[in-house]
Amino acid sequence: MGKTLYILATFIMPFFMTVTSLSCKRDVTRVRDGVRDYVSREDISPSLRILLLDRVKKASLAVDGRYQILGSLSNVIDQGMRLGKTTVSVKEGYIYIGNKRYYNSELRIKNLEDSGVGVDNIRYRGEIRILQQIDDKLSVIEEIEIENFVAGVLGCEMPNAWEDNALRSQAVAIRTYVENQRKAKGNKSYHIDRSELAYKGMIGETAKSRKMVQDTADIVMAYKGEIFSAFFHSTCGGHTEDVNLVFGKDRLPPLAGVKCGYCNNTKYFSWNVNIAKSSIMQKLKNANIRVSNIISVKAINPGPGNHGSEVEIIETNGMERMNANRFRLLVGPNSLYSTAFTAKNNGSSIKFSGKGWGHGVGLCQYGAQGMAKKGYNWRDILEYYYPKSELRRLN
Ligand SMILES: [Zn+2]
Repeated sequence: MGKTLYILATFIMPFFMTVTSLSCKRDVTRVRDGVRDYVSREDISPSLRILLLDRVKKASLAVDGRYQILGSLSNVIDQGMRLGKTTVSVKEGYIYIGNKRYYNSELRIKNLEDSGVGVDNIRYRGEIRILQQIDDKLSVIEEIEIENFVAGVLGCEMPNAWEDNALRSQAVAIRTYVENQRKAKGNKSYHIDRSELAYKGMIGETAKSRKMVQDTADIVMAYKGEIFSAFFHSTCGGHTEDVNLVFGKDRLPPLAGVKCGYCNNTKYFSWNVNIAKSSIMQKLKNANIRVSNIISVKAINPGPGNHGSEVEIIETNGMERMNANRFRLLVGPNSLYSTAFTAKNNGSSIKFSGKGWGHGVGLCQYGAQGMAKKGYNWRDILEYYYPKSELRRLN
């Protein structure tokens, strides 16, 4: 009898309690405008941490307005009316802001007005954290509220003049991507590296980008109740790509790739570029990949969107194979637009003929604009590019 009670208490009761608490959560889930609440927000911290600078020798700071300098426990250490452009650096355990030194491992710069904090000539809305690193280096992290961050990214990812519904769909994709990163990184020192997204602080925040973010406030996409990494890119070139082939991530129906008939009006839909072999070799060498005298380059193992998942480089001394997206980023995403290419040896250069711009996964931005122009709304656009996904509201 005692044993039965023990088993009940140890194994079976917690199971029932979990089921009960899950069903309680479900019972309080609200549905507004046909969108259900996303229930697990309470596990997530309220602000987002963006890595702006990683282990640099110095940076510049400027605050156009009243500001405070806080310690890591948010205790006020210093304050002022305005901080002209000043260098921040680290030496022998001190953080220096100009000539003033602070014996702190971390400083937080907070603008008490609405004009943000300038870091290397870019103004950021959030609180700026200066963190000491080894070898007299420092890192800079911005702590910002998610909706402000989405507005800043939106204004840099998509032209302000585009259709409202294209901008709204992009806002939801950004918010979903960011929220997924926040969940995945949890308590790590930062959630997003600035270079992951086009983000230039407050430059991207316009009245329109803020309005588009507000129109879709707190809305994210989920698949089977879970937020996913909602990738997006400029132009797919006719068909979006399977996330598994591009990034090696698990297959997911919303990121499996769809036919796109909406992006053929852009110059990136199909393109030809000549890239000097010497330039390709130098860029690969910078990443410790040594290739001598390229004979041919081939994108292989294409996915449904015809983007190669690997690249095969034949050279005099043999053959080099690498992830195609990595090759594209190393050669330069602004010259080798996508991995959906064929290549021809052109003497001292390689002639690439390809389709689309970007990695090809998730939302096709030019496609979203094409759909919006044809009268589709932002929900239709998201349903089209992320099939089987559903909208949820963060609460
Ligand atoms: Zn497209």
